[in-house]
Amino acid sequence: MYTWNDIEQHIAACSHCPLSQTRHLPVMGRGDHNADIMLIAEAPGEQEDLKGLPFVGRSGRILDELLEDCSLRREEIYITNILKCHPPGNRNPKEEEKESCFPYLKYETFLLKPKIIVCLGRVAAQRIISPDFKITRQHGTWTYQKDCAMTAVYHPSAILRDPSKLEITKRDFREIVRKREELAVEY
Ligand code: SF4
Repeated sequence: MYTWNDIEQHIAACSHCPLSQTRHLPVMGRGDHNADIMLIAEAPGEQEDLKGLPFVGRSGRILDELLEDCSLRREEIYITNILKCHPPGNRNPKEEEKESCFPYLKYETFLLKPKIIVCLGRVAAQRIISPDFKITRQHGTWTYQKDCAMTAVYHPSAILRDPSKLEITKRDFREIVRKREELAVEY
């Protein structure tokens, strides 16, 4: 049975896929290990690769704006990626890379047992929620698996490319907080 520390040590030494040759630093999940909300993105970006932390670049500032708008703090949620190493040039992760890295995400999810999973962007939504998930049509919708409610929102980098998505995503995040309150009443 793995602990959080075990997972971090395995990721730090991991060479299960070729990204281990090109990364600067692996990027572990960060946040509260008792959080009820888990954010999952596809992979670390350039700044994250250099610092070894999730969402510290321009996308991170957008994420912070989204969180602040709905009164969520990074310290009370858990943020991670499907891939723990940066794909060169910010290309989309390859299927074999996602498969190699997915066990780490499974362990993180097993240990955290989140009540809400929020996929950041299409790639994460298609891996976690449904292979044919359409982020433009289905962002903000909910599906349920066992005791976990799952949704997806635009990735902060999509908002950087198209700022008109900011308000839409703020609404989706407010709905996430509302869902958290609704689930808290049920439990
Ligand atoms: S991306 Fe995942 S599987 Fe590949 S080297 Fe990094 S930690 Fe290992």
